[in-house]
Amino acid sequence: MPAWALLAGCEVDHVISRKHGGITDPSNLALSCARCNRAKGTDVGSVLPTSGTFTRLFNPRIDRWDEHFALDEARITALTEVGRVTVNLLHLNDDERVLERRFLGRIGEYPGRRPSG
Ligand SMILES: [Zn+2]
Repeated sequence: MPAWALLAGCEVDHVISRKHGGITDPSNLALSCARCNRAKGTDVGSVLPTSGTFTRLFNPRIDRWDEHFALDEARITALTEVGRVTVNLLHLNDDERVLERRFLGRIGEYPGRRPSG
């Protein structure tokens, strides 16, 4: 999502929260929109509703987005259990978020370019 489109702005998030021993180092920091950051809080994972299994969240510092998610027009589809708990916990497919992606897609701003390499 382009930063200009994030009405609430970006925040620096500890991927592994300090509460769980995460360090303040670029290897453990990521830009997050305020909504995702609020939804994530200090969580490092969640429970899969289907199996009751605790599963870690997607980690943008070690995971590849395309391995855990796919875009279905403006909806984010989970491809793995890690993707599933992340979509659920961060409410990535709430109606207003899908509408926001759909709008950005229409004006050519979503999906954004990802760094290569
Ligand atoms: Zn977000």
